[in-house]
Amino acid sequence: MKLDSRHIPQRTCIACRQSRDKKDLVRLVHTKDGIVEVDSSAKKSGRGAYLCPKRDCWELGLKGSRLDYTLRTKLSHDNRQALVSYADKLPGRD
Ligand SMILES: [Zn+2]
Repeated sequence: MKLDSRHIPQRTCIACRQSRDKKDLVRLVHTKDGIVEVDSSAKKSGRGAYLCPKRDCWELGLKGSRLDYTLRTKLSHDNRQALVSYADKLPGRD
């Protein structure tokens, strides 16, 4: 099998809807335990959603039911808070 170096997988941020290289986005995964967590390896199995590594996108993505809808789950309060505190460590604006 030949690897095509021109092909870079693209994913869309669920907040700003911008298409970016997969490696430039943070993957969130809905694990089989019913928890949504940051997948830093980007290799965990489960339904995934992508967000830019920017606080703005996280705030938008975590607000309302956007993430719940994309991952077809219902985030618990604690789970949402865990993701909010992750977002707090991200850079605010470009
Ligand atoms: Zn974004």
